[in-house]
This record gives sequence, C-alpha cells and structure tokens, in this order.
Amino acid sequence: MGSVVPIPIAVLLGLVVGSFLNVVIVRLPEGRSVVFPASHCPRCGRTLHAWENIPVLSWIVLRGRCRGCKAEISSRYPMVELATAALFVLAAAEWGASLQALEACVAAALLVATLYVDVDHLLILDSVLMPAALAGVACALGLGALRESLEGGLVGVGIFGLLFALTRGMGLGFGDVKLAAVLGIFLGPAAAIAAFVVAFLVGAACAVPVLVARRRGGKDVLPLGPFLVVGATVMLYAPGLVWTPYSLYQMFLYRHLGGF
Ligand SMILES: [Zn+2]
Repeated sequence: MGSVVPIPIAVLLGLVVGSFLNVVIVRLPEGRSVVFPASHCPRCGRTLHAWENIPVLSWIVLRGRCRGCKAEISSRYPMVELATAALFVLAAAEWGASLQALEACVAAALLVATLYVDVDHLLILDSVLMPAALAGVACALGLGALRESLEGGLVGVGIFGLLFALTRGMGLGFGDVKLAAVLGIFLGPAAAIAAFVVAFLVGAACAVPVLVARRRGGKDVLPLGPFLVVGATVMLYAPGLVWTPYSLYQMFLYRHLGGF
C-alpha cells in the first residue's frame, strides 16, 4: 500500500493526461504527430494560447467556441478530460500513491483513447496498445505479478484469437484480439474473463436496438472494442459490481444444492 494521494492532485493529473489523450484521439488515427504542431483550431488554423488550452476550464470560458472563427469546439474534449480525471481519482482512492495506482492510471489512458478512436474510426491502434502493453508488463514486474499479468494476456489472445478464427474476422477485428491481450495484461486471467463476460453481455444488450435499426435501414456497424473497454473498466475500478453478485449466486447454489 502506498501513501495517500490528495484527490485534487489526482484530478489535476487526470485532466492533464486527458488533455493529451484528446490530441492522441484526434491525431494518431490520421498518422499525425502528437507533438507538432501545437494545438490549433481545426477550422481557422489559429494556434491556441496557453490559457485556451487549459483542460475543461478553457472550454467553459470560451463557451465551446473558437475565439478566432467562432467554430464550435466539440464537448468531446472536456468529456475526455473529465472521464480520465474520474478514473485517476478512482485509482488514487483505491491504491494511494503506489505502483498499482500508476498501473491503473496507465490502463485508464489506454481505455479512454481506445474507446474514442474505435468509436470514431472502427480502429484499434498499435501505437496506443504497444506503449500501454509495455507499461503494463513493467508495472506487473515491479509489483511481482508478472506471471499473472502474462497469463491474463494469454487468456485474452486465446479467447479472442479463437473467436477471430471461428468467425473468420466477421464478428470482430484482429485489433480486438490485440486489445483483449493488452487488457488481460492489466487484469490478470480471472478478472480478464469476467471483463470479457461483461463486454459480451453489454454488447448483446446494445446489439438488439442496432439490429432493430438495421431492419429500418440504419447503420449496422457495432465495434466490439468499446464493450471490452466497458468490461475492463468495471473489473479494474469497481470489480465488486461483478464479484459480489457472483459470490451471492455461489452462496445461493451452495445453500440449495449443497445438500446433494
Ligand atoms: Zn477557429
């Protein structure tokens, strides 16, 4: 256990990392550098002043519009920053100032970037997965949990590699296989399997309205990545949501079938 991290520090770090993730989400899928050029308005090209680049606050002060051309600035930007900050706060509250909290924050960055890139482009980027995987393995090594972490990765590759082979890439992309492996590295085998179950349950629940919409001629593309993100987020930051009902179910089985 580490020492306590004051919540305001976790919020600030989360907002700053979230601000960087906005750049990652917009630029990496287009093959652009995340470093150069400096942040600018995508419409008029005006470079932003430092004060226009403050996470969340600038968006509120500017009322969601570019100061030069008045083009709308998507509410996506503050949302990404707030989501990242929220996950950092959960990590700090659970693990304090520790390697485990750092690992959870790396996972948070991976989850947020993956979610938005996949929703926007139906893409899961190696340039997001690889650094996260390396950081995850390094943290696991430092925590003495390397074996569990690698087993988690293997579980991810095993289950999703099999699904990929069975569906011949129709049901999911190879990016999903790689994402499942990296999530497994962060979760370990048991939590990874639970996360995949959550992903499939939530995905199935969301597929129904999509199928209905398809019958009406709507879009029918439903990427799996966002559901993996949901499953992993639950298992990383609120595993009790799954394990508590699961243990109650086991107790129920034991009570009613234990006599046999
Ligand atoms: Zn502008």
